[in-house]
Amino acid sequence: MRFLVAGGAGLIGSTMCATLIGQGDQVVCVDNLVTGSRANVEELSGEERFTFVEADITAGLPVDGPFDVVVNLACPASPVDFGPLGLEILAVGSTGLRNLLEAARGWGATLLQASTSEVYGEPLVHPQPESYWGNVNPVGPRSVYDEAKRFGEALAMAYHRRHGVAVRIARIFNTYGPRMRPDDGRVISNLVTQALSGRPLTVYGDGSQTRSFCYVQDEVAGLLALAASGIAGPVNIGNDTEFTVLSVAQLVLELTGSDSPIVFAPRPGDDPTQRRPDLTLARSQLGWSPSTPLADGLAKTIAWFEKHPTG
Ligand code: UDP
Repeated sequence: MRFLVAGGAGLIGSTMCATLIGQGDQVVCVDNLVTGSRANVEELSGEERFTFVEADITAGLPVDGPFDVVVNLACPASPVDFGPLGLEILAVGSTGLRNLLEAARGWGATLLQASTSEVYGEPLVHPQPESYWGNVNPVGPRSVYDEAKRFGEALAMAYHRRHGVAVRIARIFNTYGPRMRPDDGRVISNLVTQALSGRPLTVYGDGSQTRSFCYVQDEVAGLLALAASGIAGPVNIGNDTEFTVLSVAQLVLELTGSDSPIVFAPRPGDDPTQRRPDLTLARSQLGWSPSTPLADGLAKTIAWFEKHPTG
């Protein structure tokens, strides 16, 4: 099969490219490297079934089709990007996705759209099933991302209904693993790099807020299962074991053997209080479920950061 992976040089994208090449597919990876990195796909550069194209999908798609599957993972996704890259996030979530949908329509390709648990905002229903419509602040500091992804779901469904494009919408929950940007400001990359360099671990608020962390290889397996299904979705893809942020900091200290202290810092605005996917749909319809416990995935992530302290 021939895959176009937009955002293929990011955490999930590069893991997806490596997985597809490993299973014998052809991959064209498009990335403008605003948050992705060339180093993430360097190991694939000698592979003749792999092509890297540096391009911004909001400006067009300089690739030769057709493709069987278009995967859209192109979007800055860390909360620290939402301020400085807000306008770019809105552009890639609208114009960028529309360019991909038009191309997919022309090629008769399936389009897998990376949506997000952020569509649930500060959830009033817990855990979150796909039927929950969410509780999003449309003008808050996270709104550029949350609303771009909500718009993306609407745009994908409009192409599906109007033009019959085979779309697959995945709602991705917190994902971590090797090839994370060390400076992306996320809790796992922050805590691991802090512990490894002997700096204090920063916990925002009192650390009682929760997240449910999915190892990147599990995430990619779920996304590919959804792409291969006949289901438009949305379908939650993540891990449904929930942790407080403070307990993750303690686990990182235990796994790294670091004696760094934990320090508490103010919590960012609109930071969701709790988040855990209801995976009933993914389990029953895709026959997929996450299999990597946080401690195992963290051990692999720590080993990677030890070898690649600067990414
Ligand atoms: N967080 C933290 N310390 C950090 C970075 C993040 O306590 O150094 C918290 C953050 O406030 C949030 C959770 O960890 O409650 C997850 O944050 P992240 O930015 O990784 O992802 P989010 O789920 O908020 O998009």
